[in-house]
Amino acid sequence: MPPEKEDLKAKLLAQAEIAIEAMLKDPKVNPQMSLSEMEQAVGVVSTNLERQMMQELVARSQAESVKVCARCGGKLRNKGKRRKIVESVRGEIEVERSYYTCVECGTSSFPPRSATWLKRDGL
Ligand SMILES: [Zn+2]
Repeated sequence: MPPEKEDLKAKLLAQAEIAIEAMLKDPKVNPQMSLSEMEQAVGVVSTNLERQMMQELVARSQAESVKVCARCGGKLRNKGKRRKIVESVRGEIEVERSYYTCVECGTSSFPPRSATWLKRDGL
């Protein structure tokens, strides 16, 4: 596996461990629990994991560098990160995108892929 995927795997495994540990520490999780209580406990773990996996995959999909302004070709200045909460089928996730302004024409923009990615999903 490429190093960046090994890194992602390690991160996701660490998050899985935290989510599973949290479930097991819950005193309501015991051999006497009902079927619906088990479903509830497992559901919380899987929902957390799904959301964290989405979060990591989304973060990686947004990592791109933009060199020039789409309108005038001028140099772009990175103005830092902007956060957006997105409702996904795996739960609410936070998308962090770089925000740029053009030093020539002043146009503000997000990386093109970031903008289309959000629009494509109608969010
Ligand atoms: Zn420009």
